[in-house]
Amino acid sequence: MELIEITPSCFYFANPTNLGYVRKEDTGLLIDAGLDASIANKALRLLDERGWPLTHVFITHAHADHYGGLHQIQKKRAMMTAAPAVEADVLRYPKWEALYLFQGNEPPQAMRNKFIEGKAASVDVVCGEGRHRFGDLDVELIPLPGHADHQMGVLVDGVLYAADSYVSLDYLFKHKIPFFTDLDKLLASQEKLLSLADDLLGAVPSHGVFEKEFKNTVWGNIAFHNKMLDEILALVERESLPAGIDRLVKTVCDACEVELSDVAMWALYRTAVVGYLMAAVRRGHLEMAIEENVLVFKKA
Ligand SMILES: [Zn+2]
Repeated sequence: MELIEITPSCFYFANPTNLGYVRKEDTGLLIDAGLDASIANKALRLLDERGWPLTHVFITHAHADHYGGLHQIQKKRAMMTAAPAVEADVLRYPKWEALYLFQGNEPPQAMRNKFIEGKAASVDVVCGEGRHRFGDLDVELIPLPGHADHQMGVLVDGVLYAADSYVSLDYLFKHKIPFFTDLDKLLASQEKLLSLADDLLGAVPSHGVFEKEFKNTVWGNIAFHNKMLDEILALVERESLPAGIDRLVKTVCDACEVELSDVAMWALYRTAVVGYLMAAVRRGHLEMAIEENVLVFKKA
């Protein structure tokens, strides 16, 4: 794991899920905490080698690859932990994620792994949007929902830590159907990124690299999702409608050459596919109904 300098105050630990780091005088702010204790330990070691402070952690959203290392950091350091509302609740009771992904039933053991459910952590401050002062640092928290319900990005010293509001194009094409819960909120968050001042120094997503011209990548994300929505609608219309969710998830995953290898993967991809279907319902292309005891989607 490498610590990459964006400006003399803004850095990130380059990792499959990046961690941000900002320092000013005696304040050191970590943005997200990595997947597990080993990632957290590497980040702490890199800070210790430089003698840099760690006084605050902000968790952008409660997905395990972003907060799984928080428990370890809290064990080793006395610092303040902040998170957006609702996401904070999941940090305190991480089983929520396995529960909601399994539609509220007691989740099977196969879903209770470190990729879905990190160790519980405490949250000292629940933050709303807007300006906050963390020690010597002034930051602006920007709501970026859609990927997660209350996700927030952090704007500090002209650098945006964008969390999972957009991802690198490589990541998009690798995952084929990236995780999100609400397509319209996701696209609105991406429009919000495009409307940010042009004199920002740039942005770094959690999955990707820092870019000055990050808006080009955001445009790429918007185009990707709009194209995927069109393709999914075309696929759905080719099915003999009405069709149930399980059948439509299979149709879309088969077409995208995604192989669902376990229940956890099924739950994640199911959520994203239903995210597209629900956007089609809101746009008036599909409607949802219960027919013969099956939840179906059909042409509106
Ligand atoms: Zn995420």
